[in-house]
Amino acid sequence: MKDQVKKHLKILQELGYEHIFVEKYSEDKEEKEKKLKEIDRQIQQCKKCDLYKNRKQAVLGEGNPNSPLMFIGEAPGGDEDKLGRPFVGRAGKLLTKLIEAAGHKREEFYITNICKCRPPNNRTPTPWEMEACFPYLEQQLQIIKPKVLCLLGATAARAFLKRNVAITKERGSIINWNDKLLYLTYHPAYVLRNPNAEITLFEDIKKAIELAIEK
Ligand code: SF4
Repeated sequence: MKDQVKKHLKILQELGYEHIFVEKYSEDKEEKEKKLKEIDRQIQQCKKCDLYKNRKQAVLGEGNPNSPLMFIGEAPGGDEDKLGRPFVGRAGKLLTKLIEAAGHKREEFYITNICKCRPPNNRTPTPWEMEACFPYLEQQLQIIKPKVLCLLGATAARAFLKRNVAITKERGSIINWNDKLLYLTYHPAYVLRNPNAEITLFEDIKKAIELAIEK
């Protein structure tokens, strides 16, 4: 068995794979999914802030409940609100492309937002809306237990650091937060408007993945 695994790893190496992500086996994966479904049930009924008024549906997040890395944006947009999945619009497609360019698959990680409901006209969520929704994210963190949180954009970073963040100056920062590391970077939507920043976002995503796998 060991020899077979070694043989497969050698073939993958010859094919050019530098990192092979092996998901840690966890007996409680099903249990985690059950708990996440319960949070989903709660947010679909939540009226803690006014964002419930315009949503088609709340968007909890998706991905591997055993992921060592969580990507966190600010809030769902129009496509996400319609489909009930995070990061599926143009910005989401860019995020997926960059994860793949780093040699990984989107499904290996968990992706979510600070606010679970879409703000009208995709405006930035207010500090109060983020505060009202943050306990749901805290529950997700308790269940999934990621080691690294890759914060996409200034708004997501502000929700954790409780201060204004100049993301062009602070991107690439790694900050201790409870027992986790926060990795600050651009939101993919910013990169769509500023294509020169794509390489930087790619480098940041790659580094956040390496950090999470090594930690
Ligand atoms: S954004 Fe969060 S707090 Fe506000 S209504 Fe939706 S689920 Fe509730």
